[in-house]
Amino acid sequence: MKIIDLRSDTITRPTLAMRLAMANAVVGDDVLGDDPTVQRLEALAAARLGKEAALFVASGHMGNLVSLLTHCGRGDEIIVGDQAHIFYYEQGSAAVVGGIHPRTVPNQTDGTLALDQIEAAIRGDNVHFPRTRLICLENTHNRCGGAVLDVAYVQAVGALARRHQLKLHVDGARVFNAAAALGVEVRELAADADSVSFCLSKGLAAPIGSVVCGSAAFIQQARRNRKLLGGGMRQAGVIAAAGIVALEQMVERLVDDHANAQRLSAGLSQIPGLAADPARTQTNIVMFELTRPDMTPAHLQSALEAAGVRLFTVGGRRLRAVTHYEVSAEDISEALERIAGVMA
Ligand SMILES: *Cc1c(COP(=O)(O)O)cnc(C)c1O
Repeated sequence: MKIIDLRSDTITRPTLAMRLAMANAVVGDDVLGDDPTVQRLEALAAARLGKEAALFVASGHMGNLVSLLTHCGRGDEIIVGDQAHIFYYEQGSAAVVGGIHPRTVPNQTDGTLALDQIEAAIRGDNVHFPRTRLICLENTHNRCGGAVLDVAYVQAVGALARRHQLKLHVDGARVFNAAAALGVEVRELAADADSVSFCLSKGLAAPIGSVVCGSAAFIQQARRNRKLLGGGMRQAGVIAAAGIVALEQMVERLVDDHANAQRLSAGLSQIPGLAADPARTQTNIVMFELTRPDMTPAHLQSALEAAGVRLFTVGGRRLRAVTHYEVSAEDISEALERIAGVMA
């Protein structure tokens, strides 16, 4: 029985082209500035995002942390969604490592933060208060089911940030999915941000790595902060080579993952005992609910595991399935049959 693994797009293994590029990569000591493959990846990423410079980092988490450390000093405050990956899934690292204080604003179901609520959270000049320094957005929004922030919204938050002399960071772990869903260039979604981090190791299928993009001055300081975190890597071209293939070969096909997520969501919505909303499946993440009261999400998850379909529970009665290049349209049909079988 083929296992259909819908836990995450992070499970994608490097393609053959990536493995060949890794084997043949020209490398050097990147901490000394000697790795031409890392430099090529950084230049490629900066160009795609429309920024002056870029920095290759070990993970999406490190990309966010390096960005926050670069924008903020100790005691500074960030405005961040209460469902944001930065707030929810990163061990409070900005506070632990950087002394950075998080101020949450509720995420709307579409992944946005209401503009008036962002504005209301900005601190005035008062000796009692921390200083607001940075606004953080997430695109696509993971816990909001892969929701897409559109260009107009990011522009509006960028304008708000500038009006208040704040910086804007976009956690764009899946920003290429956002651009694919909107049919825009990713640089349009990055234009108003002072920094954007994105993952090579999710839907783009590279084995390791993320990239932070911003101004040359920002990236110079971010490079210092990466070293502070122990993130300086030596012959990192071996992994950067896969990242180059990810950007050159794996971006165009993300629309296939979105079509498969749409199929999955539509199919789930037809299965008694499950509730899914295809209209709210915008990218490659499908959130759905178990409505049958005689079954817990954990029970469903393990029954599906036994049937060869892997996915995650995400709290409450919700489960999450993610499509990626190792899952075909036929796999989605097969997964739906197995899920319907378990529910019956
Ligand atoms: C996955 C993810 C990250 C972190 O990436 P890792 O490489 O797992 O550290 C950050 N932000 C969002 C929105 C993510 O989905």
